[in-house]
Amino acid sequence: MFRKILIANRGEIALRIQRACRELGISTVAVHSTADATAMHVRLADEAVCIGPPSAKDSYLNVGAILTAASITGADAIHPGYGFLSENAGFADMVEAHGMTFIGPSATHIAMMGDKIAAKTAMASLGVPLVPGSEGAVPDLETARAVADKIMYPVLIKAAAGGGGRGMRVARSASELEDAFRGARTEARAAFGNDAVYIEKYLDRPRHIELQVLADSHGNVVHFGERDCSLQRRHQKVLEEAGSPALTQAQRDDLGANATAALRTLGYRNAGTLEFLYQDGQFAFIEMNTRLQVEHPITEMVCDVDLVREQIRIASGAELGYAQKDITFSGHAIECRINAEDPVTFMPTPGRVTSYHAPGGLGVRIDSALYAGYFVPPYYDSMVAKLIVHAPTRERAIDRMRRALDEFAVEGIKTTIPLHRRIVDAPEFQAGDYTIHWLEKFVGT
Ligand code: ADP
Repeated sequence: MFRKILIANRGEIALRIQRACRELGISTVAVHSTADATAMHVRLADEAVCIGPPSAKDSYLNVGAILTAASITGADAIHPGYGFLSENAGFADMVEAHGMTFIGPSATHIAMMGDKIAAKTAMASLGVPLVPGSEGAVPDLETARAVADKIMYPVLIKAAAGGGGRGMRVARSASELEDAFRGARTEARAAFGNDAVYIEKYLDRPRHIELQVLADSHGNVVHFGERDCSLQRRHQKVLEEAGSPALTQAQRDDLGANATAALRTLGYRNAGTLEFLYQDGQFAFIEMNTRLQVEHPITEMVCDVDLVREQIRIASGAELGYAQKDITFSGHAIECRINAEDPVTFMPTPGRVTSYHAPGGLGVRIDSALYAGYFVPPYYDSMVAKLIVHAPTRERAIDRMRRALDEFAVEGIKTTIPLHRRIVDAPEFQAGDYTIHWLEKFVGT
């Protein structure tokens, strides 16, 4: 087992990883930008190293500074969290080349899944169904027209290197194709330095259902069921549930058996999430994330598993602590992502938190690095807390979420807590009757 882990991240996920390390008796190294010198992940770590100025490209994305911090502190592994360098194959390679362990999949698998076209090709060859679309990249407008005519409008132009909902454009008819094609390419080039795009049928009422998997280096692959992440705004998740109100246990077993078989064949290792769109009883693979997800806690609550602890154990060469038959699902969990944003306009609201009271009680979990007096910096993602509840049934989980949201007090900055209160009271949400398009209509933007 590792003695010391450097956590190449910030905020709630850095704390989450520290907690797993502490319970395993592993000491922790935090890294931070100058803007985060007083952040909670720095205050709670065993050691902390400043790696650069506020801008993420000079700090949390600064590979040289992070590797130097790891080497001067004598860390034997690096956990990347999510975002930042977590899906950077070159970084994973460099960590290993410096004699440390990257807590995640191999650089080869990160690179394969990071290219969504390669990921779809690999999954299709293993019998996983896909959303209908182009075979591979679409190099020019003529090819785009031919593909769209074949699969029929509406279509979605997507960046091969896409992430965070960027580099995606809908064309509802032939007249919109040229603008969508050029728009997606331009955005992809600017955001990812790679303008390769592909085309998918734009599904009109799917749910986003994703499957959590863990794989060790001994050939064992298990799944921990699904999360329903259909409540999205601008292709970004807002509230997630485990399990999905739309799935039966038989469907979950089926999806899990197919996906784990595919990953076993690929020789995949560590944590991963396969994302699917689900419509009319059919699953269609869209992408795989080769890291811990923001929404992993809801799976932890219904499966009673510590996914980060397992990630660390697997990376150290240990066998998975679970066989598929050991994994059972109990009750229902919901996560609300609380952002430092205006709940109506969604404009970020960095600033000083003047007072802070977190909800508590039975079945309530908060993953957050906030505290009274903390200054939410303007440089990073606006998510400042995850409020997670677990209860025996979905109805009770909704009741629990409502009361937890009512208890949650963050003063000094605006947050999206009022938005979540509206969502949990909406009849469509309560009925579990929503698709990926519902929330944008509900909030009107
Ligand atoms: P990213 O990596 O940027 O998150 P994804 O491929 O995971 O991109 O898609 C993000 C979201 O965009 C999905 O959860 C879904 O809401 C929407 N989306 C993606 N592909 C389609 C599609 N073919 N039809 C309709 N919506 C889609």
